[in-house]
Amino acid sequence: MEKPKRKTAAPLLRDGSNDRRRPRPARPYSLYTPAEVHEIFRRFSVQRPEPRGELDHVNAFTLLVAVVLSAQATDAGVNKATGPLFKVADTPRKMLALGEARVGEYIRTIGLWRNKAKNVIALSEALLRDHHGEVPGDLDELVKLPGVGRKTANVVLNMAFGQPTMAVDTHIFRIGNRLGLAPGKTPEEVEQGLIRIIPPEYMRHAHHRLILHGRYVCKARKPECTHCVIADICKAAEKTSAIPAPLVELAPGEVP
Ligand code: SF4
Repeated sequence: MEKPKRKTAAPLLRDGSNDRRRPRPARPYSLYTPAEVHEIFRRFSVQRPEPRGELDHVNAFTLLVAVVLSAQATDAGVNKATGPLFKVADTPRKMLALGEARVGEYIRTIGLWRNKAKNVIALSEALLRDHHGEVPGDLDELVKLPGVGRKTANVVLNMAFGQPTMAVDTHIFRIGNRLGLAPGKTPEEVEQGLIRIIPPEYMRHAHHRLILHGRYVCKARKPECTHCVIADICKAAEKTSAIPAPLVELAPGEVP
């Protein structure tokens, strides 16, 4: 009779266990230790204590309109158009009274202006109809508005309502992946990764600090690593310097 085969123990995993059924993360959500992440955001906070967005606005409504208009456009280009527009229409009611054709005339220099004029009027209508003309401080309600996606909603929640949201734009998406800070295939994956790792005390301004870092230092084509205050911590394959730039406070609008 054939002897029953002895069960051989499964080889131990790296953590000493042999339980292969436990779900394990598909990939690391950050190449950085909590201490490194803390130090990165501490340095950004010294450099830019009160970072501001660069879209001009006078209230939550004009901020919402400016962010909607900024899709695939530069902040400077949007500001040029919205300066005169917001002088005549800074509430949903005034915007509606202005009408789609006149709004279109103000924003004609911005890409996709026809569609954006339509959305600005439709979202003004929706705000009056569903929210008494006020911008809602709630993600689910914001994304129901015409032309408002998750990124736009998160910018508005962060800037107008002071919520610690993370709106992932092209700069933040690049930084999350280039540095391995919060790798992800989609903006939402990067958003969730960043929210998981950024210390709560730095969440409120993390969005703007990352955008400004991406726009002026960790640029898309050629990162300016010699001007970077986190060059010694950064683990990006493309980095060209490991010597951190001097950590000094920058005046608003100042470029390192
Ligand atoms: S060292 Fe270079 S690649 Fe790394 S964050 Fe700074 S600018 Fe970007």
